[in-house]
Amino acid sequence: MTSKEEELKKRKTYLQIAGTACSNCRKTGAEVGIKALLRCTRCRMSCYCSRECQKADFSFHKHLCAAVKELSEFEEAWYSCNEQESEWNKRNIYHMQLLTEALDRELNNYERNAWLHQPKCHVCFRTTRDLQNQSPLIPCPECKVTFCCSSEHWEKHREKHQSLCKIYQLMINCERIRYQDTSETLWAPEEWDANAIYPPLPKDWNGYFKWRKNSQFIHLDALCGVITNNLSLPLTILSALERFYVRSKLRSLEDLTIHIIGASQYEIFALMTFEEIMHVLPKIKTVRIIMVGFELPGQNHGIDLQCCSRCTNSGRKRICAFYPMAYHEYGSSSDYTAPHVSAGFNTGLYEDDTELWKPTIEFLLDKETPCVFTSYSKEEATQDVKILKSWGAKVIVGAKENKWKSTMPLVEPQGTDKFYYNNFYRTLLQGRV
Ligand SMILES: [Zn+2]
Ligand SMILES: [Zn+2]
Ligand SMILES: [Zn+2]
Ligand SMILES: [Zn+2]
Ligand SMILES: [Zn+2]
Repeated sequence: MTSKEEELKKRKTYLQIAGTACSNCRKTGAEVGIKALLRCTRCRMSCYCSRECQKADFSFHKHLCAAVKELSEFEEAWYSCNEQESEWNKRNIYHMQLLTEALDRELNNYERNAWLHQPKCHVCFRTTRDLQNQSPLIPCPECKVTFCCSSEHWEKHREKHQSLCKIYQLMINCERIRYQDTSETLWAPEEWDANAIYPPLPKDWNGYFKWRKNSQFIHLDALCGVITNNLSLPLTILSALERFYVRSKLRSLEDLTIHIIGASQYEIFALMTFEEIMHVLPKIKTVRIIMVGFELPGQNHGIDLQCCSRCTNSGRKRICAFYPMAYHEYGSSSDYTAPHVSAGFNTGLYEDDTELWKPTIEFLLDKETPCVFTSYSKEEATQDVKILKSWGAKVIVGAKENKWKSTMPLVEPQGTDKFYYNNFYRTLLQGRV
């Protein structure tokens, strides 16, 4: 199994967490031709299409299963949320503390998501555990991931859900594409309109797809969502380069070095799409992508990545290196070379790791490195800008909507019916004021 497949196996899709798809093989009841999936009798969370799938998932599932069983027997923890979303959120946080104690470790990403996204009535916020002997939750027949406990509560909720149902469906269809067992990278067409000279970049995704002779993606469907989610990274970098360098310089650039700060799975999965930078900047011979971040697998000083046949034939090279460490640590190593631009995606500087970010930002400001940072939401972006300014950064573009944001919806773990998008807002900075 490749590491990408292993990584995907560890993550469960939204359909799986909702109990609409088998927790092991990702098939829905309809896809395997059964009326209802089997529910794990201990935790009443994970669902399976067959005993075989339940067995196959057990080594993965058993830890959370035991902890959830322990929690569900603790009656005091199941007080009523009084139809209040805020109470539901509070209770969830309390439950996660109890689960942490039961597991005797922090919850991993899957466990946190499974708990936060567990099915509940969208009106009274009761879960299958709260309802116990009453009838099970009723799913929306369209998206199958939104539930109410009764037809009365569906009556109440239907109108609100109508506009959201489409976003849920888009999100689920995007997940289907992302989790397909596909070895080919999404998005590396080798055709483009050679008459269009970039930069400047086109004004939006529609213009971009037209240039790439893939106008069918203009309708923002699921495939388009997944593609923009990946391409959002190289295009956000390109649009930052446009802002920091004059056009003639970009058009004549032969060697380009990009640093990616706080890189993790998202950046690794999208790595192949960074070739787009070579397609937009015509004179490029070599692109060096230096990824720095604690979540990266082992260190390497640079490996050659495959390029499309056009780039390969013209002798272009794409090199990628991994440094699993803090950026300022990499900066003080002998491997450091000054980049043309440094990028940090969905960084959330203002969150828990603020103190960890400070030496990194100071290093970037001292070196006067052109930087682009992105965030999921306006509030996060605004908070980030505030912190950057308090550290003395000269902010050039502050918390502005990014036209190269992802169009793929992701569900917010906290809160109900809230979605977010990768790289929605961007901030550019360079040096100190
Ligand atoms: Zn299955
Ligand atoms: Zn279980
Ligand atoms: Zn209800
Ligand atoms: Zn729906
Ligand atoms: Zn190419």
